Amino acid sequence: MASEMLGHVMVNAVFTPSTIKNLPDTIRYFSGLGVRQIYLSPDYSAYWNEEAISSLTRIYEDIGDLYKSYYREGNPHYISLIDNKISVILRNGYDQKDRCRMGIAEFAITPEGNVFPCERLVGSGNNDHQIGNIFQGIDPKFMLCHCAKGQQINEACLECAIRDFCMNWCGCSNYMTSGYYNRVSSFLCHSEKTILQTSFRVFRELESELGPLFYQHLVGKQC
Ligand code: SF4
Ligand code: SF4
Repeated sequence: MASEMLGHVMVNAVFTPSTIKNLPDTIRYFSGLGVRQIYLSPDYSAYWNEEAISSLTRIYEDIGDLYKSYYREGNPHYISLIDNKISVILRNGYDQKDRCRMGIAEFAITPEGNVFPCERLVGSGNNDHQIGNIFQGIDPKFMLCHCAKGQQINEACLECAIRDFCMNWCGCSNYMTSGYYNRVSSFLCHSEKTILQTSFRVFRELESELGPLFYQHLVGKQC
């Protein structure tokens, strides 16, 4: 009974450079309890050194293998890292409306009326991410103090073959990992590349093995 109820529960596991190695076991643990909707989120505020960044490749591959094995057993799981990117692949990239335009079309407003460009950047009281107040008005130019000068995003992104599938537009994640809203860190870049490659392989394999069954899961008819 408990495991039936847990099938409707969503869990979010936040991983850090020191806990990422446990992610596959974490998924197995939740799966063993009956949980079928597992969200995985990196701790963007952590320091991701080169060793931790390179470990992403193997760990994401292991998660992809788990995702496939659950499918093959007729017991599909929603695993956010993989499912989100498969959805983006099927849509042929992020649509314009998917992309956050922080401080322009995305705002967070505190109970005091202070306006921030993103809810994750709201601190306690005033902080230097604030771009105004609903009573005095807002000025997105305040965001410039957290933007690196020059082009809108990393130069490498402009020529990158997978730029339409990459979340390099999340200014908050960029800020937490690079110090600038408009600069993608090596951690985020490697994470996006790796999870996209893994998800693409998972999609191709499962699509060829399962055909329509796989699409039913993707549109929420199975989980
Ligand atoms: S994968 Fe890296 S280089 Fe390519 S668009 Fe994303 S952040 Fe930029
Ligand atoms: S977390 Fe990223 S995508 Fe979400 S509101 Fe903030 S900047 Fe936008």
